[in-house]
Amino acid sequence: APTSTAQIRADFIAFFRDKGHTIVPSAPLVPGNDPTLLFTNSGMVQFKDVFLGAEKRSYVRAADVQRCLRAGGKHNDLDSVGYTARHHTFFEMLGNWSFGDYFKKDAIAWAWELLTQVWKLPAERLLVTVYHTDDEAYVLWRDMVGIPEDRIVRIGDNKGAPFASDNFWQMADTGPCGPCTEIFYDHGAHIAGGPPGSPDEDGDRFIEIWNLVFMQFDKQADGSLLPLPAPCVDTGMGLERLAAILQGVHSNYEIDVFQALIRKAAELTGTQDLENKSLRVIADHIRACSFLIVDGVLPSNEGRGYVLRRIIRRALRHGWMLGVRQPFFHSMVETLDAVMGEAYPELRIKRELVERALRAEEERFAETLDAGMRIFDEIATRSLGTIPGEDAFRLYDTYGFPLDLTADIARERGLDVDIAGFDAAMQRQRETARAAGKFASGTGLPADLVAQLSPTVFDGYHATTAQGLQIVA
Ligand code: ATP
Ligand code: MG
Ligand code: MG
Ligand code: MG
Repeated sequence: APTSTAQIRADFIAFFRDKGHTIVPSAPLVPGNDPTLLFTNSGMVQFKDVFLGAEKRSYVRAADVQRCLRAGGKHNDLDSVGYTARHHTFFEMLGNWSFGDYFKKDAIAWAWELLTQVWKLPAERLLVTVYHTDDEAYVLWRDMVGIPEDRIVRIGDNKGAPFASDNFWQMADTGPCGPCTEIFYDHGAHIAGGPPGSPDEDGDRFIEIWNLVFMQFDKQADGSLLPLPAPCVDTGMGLERLAAILQGVHSNYEIDVFQALIRKAAELTGTQDLENKSLRVIADHIRACSFLIVDGVLPSNEGRGYVLRRIIRRALRHGWMLGVRQPFFHSMVETLDAVMGEAYPELRIKRELVERALRAEEERFAETLDAGMRIFDEIATRSLGTIPGEDAFRLYDTYGFPLDLTADIARERGLDVDIAGFDAAMQRQRETARAAGKFASGTGLPADLVAQLSPTVFDGYHATTAQGLQIVA
């Protein structure tokens, strides 16, 4: 039988426990130690202060399975969901760490051992990248592991390059940083996409499974790199991507956990085609939304709560596209609990609360979704390739369509949205409301009070205007 996702978690933990690692629990999606970070977007987030030297732990080796969210800020994969085989908003990252203990040699040797000996991945399907100046890592892969040179790719900083590779990691503009080495799996020539470092590397043929970061420098304000007294290792591997390989499928959406969710979504929406993109989006989003609520986020009009609201509404719109006209999304939680509740007892404990919170939001949006979609169609029909900002704003203000929802629908139909026009309309409305001392829509509070409480509304769609929130991981 193919290796289940649950078995992969267990194998990973057992492997690194054997190598002297302390196993730590997943931190919540809302980082407790970093108000500047919107969500936990990688395994290292909970160890940030350890790397900075501000916090000491009783161990120097750790491993875990960390729940992650990339749906806001610098790491935002929301728009890839449903479009690539490998991106989710919520996913699980398997990670191992050395805090000034082992370094490149052991990290590389163990990664290779786990992949090729425990999980028996065929070596000839694997490809690695190193940072272009990191000869140490290059030589380890070539001589210690024995990877042929044509499957070790040197990747530079790519500043100004036409494609996206970047193999140098830094926590922030200054501080701990260092080269990465990444391990890719080749799913085969029948799938479009080039190897890492090539112009079509963003395809889904060569899929990055494991990223090893070697923190060895302390970057100074002038850009110079001083050696860190005790270099560290930070690794992250996507559980779902690995499960796809071990379960003999290409897309993450074909693995056990996702198939269960997709089947449930199909049942709830009366959809026959299990490969329907909307089912994938719904399956992805129920994980993100449920775990956000488990971790204390509730739908709202700003900050983390607005990211949650945006994801819920995107899922509901996909349900609507499949013909659903009554609440359905909250009914996915039962299945999610069945497939993930054992690994995440906090989900099992809060399941009912999650269902209630989702249902309330479904009922709220149900009041305007249908009308909003009809308005969208009218706008789309008379628009010349671009949804005017005023119209996007009307959808937002009157029908509760977050800007990114409108943009997502527009994208499906090959249309753009005038985002600057939307921002201008939003600004005008705020000024009018303020001048008239009117009540702001939706909140039930006087506009001036709302304005005081939220100096700038966090708009997760524009990563750069995110209320000074800077994603540092
Ligand atoms: P990609 O280049 O494919 O977008 P990444 O380089 O952004 O991945 P990292 O930040 O290196 O990813 O994260 C470590 C690992 O986590 C990746 O190697 C991958 O296996 C997994 N991963 C990253 N982003 C996602 C995602 N959105 N969904 C599922 N797994 C992910
Ligand atoms: Mg990415
Ligand atoms: Mg990458
Ligand atoms: Mg990476």
